[in-house]
Amino acid sequence: MSVFDVGQGDATRISWGRQCFWFDFGSFFQARRAKTLFEREIRLCDQHLLAVSHLDGDHVGGVYIFLDAMNALVKNVWVSSWGGDWRVKMHQKKINNRGSRLALVERVPHPQVDTLWPLEEHRGLNANELSWVLRVWHQDRRHCILLTGDISKLIETKLIETYSSPGCIFLKVAHHGSKTSTSRAFLQWAQPKIAFISNGYGHYFGHPHQTVLKNLDSHGIWIFRTDWMGRIDVWIEDQLIRVRTVKGEVHLPI
Ligand SMILES: [Zn+2]
Repeated sequence: MSVFDVGQGDATRISWGRQCFWFDFGSFFQARRAKTLFEREIRLCDQHLLAVSHLDGDHVGGVYIFLDAMNALVKNVWVSSWGGDWRVKMHQKKINNRGSRLALVERVPHPQVDTLWPLEEHRGLNANELSWVLRVWHQDRRHCILLTGDISKLIETKLIETYSSPGCIFLKVAHHGSKTSTSRAFLQWAQPKIAFISNGYGHYFGHPHQTVLKNLDSHGIWIFRTDWMGRIDVWIEDQLIRVRTVKGEVHLPI
């Protein structure tokens, strides 16, 4: 699993053998960096499955760079049919032009991915709140990562009310570490051991917020963030979680 350094934005990849599941692609503004990254990374897998959490530019923008790098070898880009807005048509057209399809689906159609939110129509919620929340299983199906897009505390509360703890060691922190998410109650529910924050270095949004860092810290959660550490690579081997960043490699017991 890799959380890529795409500045202010999100781009995550989970691999199952030679199959790669990509969730978000960063912003189009990071085009040069993303082009180099994607061109190198796509060689690692024979099959690529693409999904975007929602249609904000810092999540979907880079998908065009990815599709160009793939040269029309990807059939679908999945997006939640419950999370669509006026931008669907625009992206559909642009993605069609590249020989692929923006596929509106109720759930991510893959056995290793559980779609937790949204599962029906919700009126009055914004694009961030309608981000897909996914539980993605590691190859062994014993470990998982919770991917949360840009959801807010309101959606965190809905998840808490709907599900028992998802049981994932890994958490992709919502909304780049904004204080609009990652409440103590949510962490109590999710029970992660390791959190990833994807945010831009010195960006004027000021992510991650101190409150979020404090909440994570008070739950004893390891924090890895792309603005300080660059790309984050994670794999499980010999009953250890191995995390590698430009700052070095750490081994954590499962
Ligand atoms: Zn975002």
